Formats: sequence, structure tokens, C-alpha cells
Amino acid sequence: MDISVVVPLYNEAESLPELTDWIRRVMVAHNFSYEIILVDDGSKDTSWSVILDLKQQHEQISGIKFRRNYGKSAALNVGFAAAQGEVVITMDADLQDSPDEIPELYDRVMNQGADLVSGWKQKRYDPITKTIPTKLFNAVTRAMSGINNLHDFNCGLKAYKKDVVKSIEVYGEMHRYIPVIAKWAGFSNIQEQVVQHYPRKYGTTKFGAGRFVKGFLDLMSIFFVGKFGKRPMHFFGPIGVISFLIGFFITIYLISEKLMSIASGSVYRNVTDQPLFYLSLLAIMIGTQLFLTGFIAELLSRNSSERNKYQIERVV
Ligand code: UDP
Ligand code: MG
Repeated sequence: MDISVVVPLYNEAESLPELTDWIRRVMVAHNFSYEIILVDDGSKDTSWSVILDLKQQHEQISGIKFRRNYGKSAALNVGFAAAQGEVVITMDADLQDSPDEIPELYDRVMNQGADLVSGWKQKRYDPITKTIPTKLFNAVTRAMSGINNLHDFNCGLKAYKKDVVKSIEVYGEMHRYIPVIAKWAGFSNIQEQVVQHYPRKYGTTKFGAGRFVKGFLDLMSIFFVGKFGKRPMHFFGPIGVISFLIGFFITIYLISEKLMSIASGSVYRNVTDQPLFYLSLLAIMIGTQLFLTGFIAELLSRNSSERNKYQIERVV
């Protein structure tokens, strides 16, 4: 099979018939063999019965229904697991992304060696309260991930080589960072394609303002897990040791200062009378705690079933 289109959706009943029709027209025009996987993320409207109807009409359509709303990442994750096409395309259900982009996306993955092609909504049809924070978000993500050629990490329209979706795991709200996750997994040919973007036709956005806070926290987690997930002590250890040593040497300094004052017969200050002493105490305690956190994290990762999971590209 050439293409799997994975569509996560939550309360998008009105859009589905139009969306699947449009996808089908593009696929037929280009002679692709394809499937459309509609992942119903616990919709409370009639989305699921619409999906059942569509499935009746077209054998290429299949549906997966969550018992409750788990979020877009979870929906993508199960969609990825089910996908069988050589190229996997994800798109939003709300008709903001255009299926007309599919042939070019496919060509880039299939014939131009891309592991992942991310859409770039160069001209966006979203409210300004969303576009400005998004610019900031993308700049921070670029800086932290080193993926400098992407303008728009969170575009719902993306294309993947099959290998990519079968080797990465998306959970929580990590769908914003799939290019970063893919890069950490060792897929380095990450490209961008300018895509058409439309205003939402039916329904309303499913993400509130909380998206930016959560998005930032997720970025920190991804960065940490990607870099230190398999060796947490290398993160906590150095900071802990440095903090401990700073505190330790300040204490030594304070004590020796007092002893020298006594020896020379001049007036001395008690160590506990010096503000610096409390700082050094704090530094020693924080240092010890960080170090112990490192040990505990090592013990945890040693017990994890993931500890020897590596991305093997090929064996001959
Ligand atoms: N979505 C989902 N589960 C959720 C929230 C959203 O599957 O909990 C889907 C939603 O139906 C849509 C896509 O994710 O197909 C993008 O959501 P939306 O259009 O609301 O986001 P926005 O375009 O405002 O960023
Ligand atoms: Mg949308």
C-alpha cells in the first residue's frame, strides 16, 4: 500500500464526509493505493456513526474509537500502530489542512529521501492570540532541538516514512514535537513543505490557552528524556557535586577564618553569625539531594523495560 492517512478527531462529525471525499478524489486522481484511518478520540457528537457510515461506503476507510478522550497524541499513536502504507500522512479533521498536498508530500518521502516532511502554514488563518505565541514556541523549539529548518513544528499535516512512525512513540501532548522525537530516534532527513491552510469550517478549536504552558513543559521533558533518559546521573550528578562543593568550601573557609582570628588573638565572629553560612548549608543540602535524585533515577531506568531499547536501522 502506498499511503496511510491518519486523522485524529474529536467532535468533528460535520467535517468528516467532506474530508474523506476530498482525500479520495486526490488518491484516485494520482492512482495511489491508500487507506484512511479515522481515530475517534472519544467524541461526544455523532462522529462515530458518521465514521461507520463512511466505512460502509468505502472499503479504504477504517475507524478506531477510544472509549474516552485521551488527546491528539494518543490518537496519533494508535493510528501509527495501525498504519500499513509505505508513507504515512497525518492531517487534522477540521478541513484546515488540504489533501491536495498529499502527492508532493508522498513524492518527497518516497523519492527524495525524506524521513519526515512537516507542513508549514506560511499563511495562516488562525486568530492572532494563537499565531504570536506560536512563533515564540517554534523559535524555542528550534533552538532547543537544533532542527533549524522547520518553521512550524505543530502543523497537523505531516508525512512520514513508515519506519519513522513504527519506531517512535507519541504520548501526553507530545504531538507538538514529533520532529524532535524523530530526530532523537535518529531520523535526520527532516524537511519542510509550505502548505495551504484554511480557516476552520465547522466546530471550534479543541485546544485552549493552556496549550502554551503544557507545550513548554513537554519540550523540557522531551529534551531531558532524549538527552539523559538513559543516563540520568550524568545530568543530576555534576550539578549536585558542584553545589555540594561550593557549600563545602565556603564552610571550610568560614571555619578557618574563625580559627585564624582566635589564633591571632583578634575578635572573631561565630560561623553561625555569618549569612554566608546559611547559603553554604543550603548548597550542601541541595547538592546532596540532586546527587541522590540522580541515583534514584538510575535505579529507575535500570528497572525499566526500555533500558535496552535502541533504534536498529538494519542488520545484515
Ligand atoms: N483532536 C483530537 N483530540 C483532542 C483534541 C483535538 O483528536 O483531544 C483533533 C481535532 O479533532 C483535530 C486536530 O486534533 O482534528 C487538531 O485540533 P484543532 O483543529 O482543534 O487544533 P487547532 O487547529 O486549533 O490547533
Ligand atoms: Mg484546527
